[in-house]
Amino acid sequence: MKSVLIIGSGLGGLSTALRLSNLGFDVTILEKHQTPGGRLNIIEQDGFRFDMGPSFMSMTYELEELFNSIGEKLPIELEELEPLYQVFFEGQDKPRLIYKDLKKLAKEFEDIEPNLEENAKKYLDKAGQFFNDTIDKVVKTNFDSKLDYILKLTRVPLKHLPYLQKTMWSEVEKHFKSNEVRIIFSLVAFFLGSTPFQTPAIYSLLNYTEMRHNGYWKVKGGMYRLVEEIMKLLSKKNVKIFFNTEIVGISNNNGRLYEVIDQNGKIWKADIFISNADAAAFRGQILKRKNFSEKKLDSMHWTLAPFTVYLGVKGKINNLLHHNYFLGNNFKGYADTIFTSSISPQKPYYYVNVLSKSEPSCAPEGCENLFILCPVPDLRFKNNWDDKEELANNIIQDLSKRVNFDINKNLITKKILAPDDWAKTLNLYKGSGLGLAHDINQVGAFRPKNKDEYFSNLYYVGASTTPGTGLPMVIISSKLVTERIKKDYGII
Ligand SMILES: Cc1cc2nc3c(=O)[nH]c(=O)nc-3n(C[C@H](O)[C@H](O)[C@H](O)COP(=O)(O)OP(=O)(O)OC[C@H]3O[C@@H](n4cnc5c(N)ncnc54)[C@H](O)[C@@H]3O)c2cc1C
Repeated sequence: MKSVLIIGSGLGGLSTALRLSNLGFDVTILEKHQTPGGRLNIIEQDGFRFDMGPSFMSMTYELEELFNSIGEKLPIELEELEPLYQVFFEGQDKPRLIYKDLKKLAKEFEDIEPNLEENAKKYLDKAGQFFNDTIDKVVKTNFDSKLDYILKLTRVPLKHLPYLQKTMWSEVEKHFKSNEVRIIFSLVAFFLGSTPFQTPAIYSLLNYTEMRHNGYWKVKGGMYRLVEEIMKLLSKKNVKIFFNTEIVGISNNNGRLYEVIDQNGKIWKADIFISNADAAAFRGQILKRKNFSEKKLDSMHWTLAPFTVYLGVKGKINNLLHHNYFLGNNFKGYADTIFTSSISPQKPYYYVNVLSKSEPSCAPEGCENLFILCPVPDLRFKNNWDDKEELANNIIQDLSKRVNFDINKNLITKKILAPDDWAKTLNLYKGSGLGLAHDINQVGAFRPKNKDEYFSNLYYVGASTTPGTGLPMVIISSKLVTERIKKDYGII
């Protein structure tokens, strides 16, 4: 049977390894980091266990499909979030709870948005129609060429055209009156690593996925349980995995890739290669393609970089839930400048996840583990992160004040990952957290393809190839690349 070498053990690489080993391929994974999972990773420190990146997922049926496709049941327990999250607006006494149940949501905002249920229904109906008209025809499909993509797009009803020409903000502005509700419905743009003032209105389909379609789910025991269970299955299927092994070059080619070389000069051979490393940056940095030179890569639109802080604290912080957003009072001004600013935000907007609320085993008894995520500019705009302690402290002070709990006084452990750390640890291009942005000219056939342009046996999987970023999309990506390989190698 043919040998497959997967470069990277993110969820994209691991899911592809599951699918291909199940088909009988002899699979080996090479991973730069010392643990599997890529961004879906774990940090253990002083008795606390933190999920390093993702803290929830949507479209969980894609996860079930992954396991079912190899004859297994979903090996983890998922728990739906309701309320989905809470939002602390600067200067308001209490946070607003965001429910998937529109009746409850309407009640929560009845003082400022009288027709919320009716307006949200209209907004979500429209977004839902777009989701259903595109998910199979455009998102879950391989394209052989730009023409093929355009032909598939022509099957999407024309009524959705205005969605392409508008921003997400203008769509929420049309449906809702109050600034708070507009902000809440546009927060999903940040999940794409962008802002609602830049993201096209088509991505209101994410509101549909969170509020009506499948909601948000967390994994019982923490997100990393997913990686642990996949690793067990891969071991049963004899998939070999080598850590601390970074591919830095290739040798020998004549239309096919024969070998890749790691940082110690060791040569790895295979019949088929799959890169789970960023699909654009791999082509530029490892394959030295001119179309993906640093200048070209820098001119592409990348998503915001993560600034993450992991805190273990003594005591319980009662007014935090599993997911919490802390926003200031200059949403547009903030969103317009965070992408390109060369200084750390003075009044940062951030997200806080408290895993210990539902998973007591993640923290010592009577303690809380906090994960803070603040979107910041990538290394193209702010290259020096020597001020990371200062920014973290700034956030900790603000959070302490807003939840009325002195975090510094009760601090047991702290770890900070700034964009330079994310870039170094997992080879995220210039520290961009979600990879290439999802502008119209960077999705579908315009996104780096999942099959190489020159080497017939080199493929790509993960957030920076099709269809895009986020855990469910990455699982779909593994399905798409597997379909390509099956077709190319005549497997029915
Ligand atoms: C802070 C943060 C929070 C997030 N939260 C969520 C969330 O709540 N829900 C959600 O759905 N999504 C979330 N995401 C997005 C999600 O994490 C990603 O879309 C997904 O994990 C990407 O998986 P991947 O397999 O494409 O890539 P990665 O996870 O980046 O994996 C790629 C792997 O390749 C390895 N690698 C790279 N280059 C080489 C090389 N040359 N040689 C060997 N190995 C190499 C890397 O070390 C890495 O392990 C979040 C992302 C971040 C950063």
